[in-house]
Amino acid sequence: MAHQVALIRGDGIGPELVQAVETVFDAAQVNIDWIEVEAGLKCVEAGKPIVPEETIGKIKELGIGLKAPMTTPIGKGSVSPNVTLRKKLDLYACVRPVYSMPGVPTPFNGLDVVIFRENTEDLYAQIEYMATPTVAHTVKLISEKGSERIIRAAFEYARKNGRKKVTCVHKANIMKIGDGLFLRTFNRIKEEYPEIESWDNIVDAQCMQLVTRWKQFDVLVMPNLYGDIVSDLCAGMMGGLGVAPGANYGTKAALFEAVHGSAPKYAGMNKANPTALLLSATLMLDHLGEHDARTKIEAALRTTIESGVKTYDLGGTATTSEYAQAIAAALKG
Ligand code: NAD
Repeated sequence: MAHQVALIRGDGIGPELVQAVETVFDAAQVNIDWIEVEAGLKCVEAGKPIVPEETIGKIKELGIGLKAPMTTPIGKGSVSPNVTLRKKLDLYACVRPVYSMPGVPTPFNGLDVVIFRENTEDLYAQIEYMATPTVAHTVKLISEKGSERIIRAAFEYARKNGRKKVTCVHKANIMKIGDGLFLRTFNRIKEEYPEIESWDNIVDAQCMQLVTRWKQFDVLVMPNLYGDIVSDLCAGMMGGLGVAPGANYGTKAALFEAVHGSAPKYAGMNKANPTALLLSATLMLDHLGEHDARTKIEAALRTTIESGVKTYDLGGTATTSEYAQAIAAALKG
């Protein structure tokens, strides 16, 4: 029976990337029944909420979705459709594997790190106000429950996947209460995983050490904002935003999406790299138990890149669709 998966085509470069994923999935004969749902600018333009309740309801019902990037409207009171989805679906664990791939130019050979970013709290709780006409307050919300579930998710992942070390990234030397709670929770939970080495590191030192000693890191777990920034740093180390995949797991659903945004300046140009969304979609296949399909597609993707068929961001000349068709041909060949 086909797996039913909710699909958000997104905007900007989103629809082109989804088309590329469809080309590859068709060639791999993956049994997916895409159920399209709406969110983002299109909804706002039609006078609907940025993420309509039907969309939330459908993703909850199916328990799984693939999401292309969506633009955050600019202006007072505008909310991000991406943050809204994460909050409404309680997608508390953002998981971003970053690794060097043959054929993707990067000086960081041997990079193999998995980032666990807390996805619902911290400065993204969207609690902000003007304390006086000239002073703004943005609340950094860290709870023990929120910290515990992301830290436990990181350790459980390490245990299940044979990872050796989990590092907690924080700034508890300065934010002794908020980040202090995150670190204390980490120190409590780590006792339950004695076979896994545990470290903690201050976020600024972590960034420096990632680019000087990347091979010494394995699983990293951190609050939301550090996770956002460290993910983009690591995406750059992997070879650019065009190749960095991501997954969001929660109590109600799992939603798979690339690290990058809607890159509006490349919209409609058939130019953007669909690798990040495609690798997010293969993480989704793993979640569905379709491990062989994942392996097959990732092998075809590697063969294609190694053969020199690459999009502009990796130094190639292939268009989005040419690249997808080359992966499809590698799957069939
Ligand atoms: P972005 O990630 O969209 O793009 C930044 C730059 O990275 C692009 O100009 C391009 O040079 C490169 N890039 C990104 N994706 C690429 C790809 N697939 N192939 C090749 N190059 C790629 O970041 P931005 O320009 O800051 O944000 C644009 C919009 O996307 C904003 O509205 C932002 O809020 C939104 N956004 C959405 C998500 C999401 O959907 N999860 C994530 C980040 C940003």
